[in-house]
Amino acid sequence: SDHDLIPSSPAAMDWSQHYPAFAITPPSSTPNNDPKTTTPEPNNQAPITQISKSVEVADIGCGFGGLLFALAPKMPSTLILGLEIRTSVTEFVQEKAKALRLQHASSDGLYQNVSCIRANSMKFLPNFFVKGQLRKIFLCFPDPHFKARKHKARIVSGTLNSEYAFVLAAGGKVYTITDVEDLHLWIVEHFEGHASFERVGEEELEGDECVETMRRETEEGKKVERNGGRKYVVVFRRLEDPPWP
Ligand code: SAM
Repeated sequence: SDHDLIPSSPAAMDWSQHYPAFAITPPSSTPNNDPKTTTPEPNNQAPITQISKSVEVADIGCGFGGLLFALAPKMPSTLILGLEIRTSVTEFVQEKAKALRLQHASSDGLYQNVSCIRANSMKFLPNFFVKGQLRKIFLCFPDPHFKARKHKARIVSGTLNSEYAFVLAAGGKVYTITDVEDLHLWIVEHFEGHASFERVGEEELEGDECVETMRRETEEGKKVERNGGRKYVVVFRRLEDPPWP
């Protein structure tokens, strides 16, 4: 169900399972088995191991993770997370991350910073991230849901854009790409019409390597390339919240 493994709040999420290389080892490493001094965890939950960083980049609807694995070595000290609703696809990405970590363990140690969780991003984003936590959100080739009565299933809407605004830091960016013109226009309308975002200009996009990576390395981007299709890229910046009147 949707409730599998969804933390009740970001503080309840054990990120060390996803990024073990970033886990903080507790200062006292001597095991304490004395029943008089060990405190049972509330609700019998396993204790959470903290990590030294927080996730700053999210790829929403990451599919098989082409973008994640292209970005990971470019920003090795930034934690990158894919969110994907399909269980088998999520497992594929998790296994691929483990395999790449092993392959790179004795050389450059790369891919420790990339992982994936199964989640319905339309419902649970604030369960994973605190306000202002993220610097980049990628929405790459979202399902177009062509028919008007299906538009509510689109991952861009006034309500969802408010959630993206909540989890993004001021100055953070939402990167979007699609090959469907109608969806592109929808994306522009819903972000430009949202008080927390402004559209990033073309010159700035040219100097941003994330844009090129998104065009080239997503599975869908490659498919569109093979078919000679057009790709619509638009990036939006999270504005500072205005001061209270
Ligand atoms: N971003 C990838 C790319 O560009 O190659 C995959 C694009 S694919 C067309 C859309 C992906 O979004 C699918 O893998 C789908 O399972 C996932 N997805 C759809 N709705 C979702 C939701 N509400 N939460 C998380 N993932 C979702």
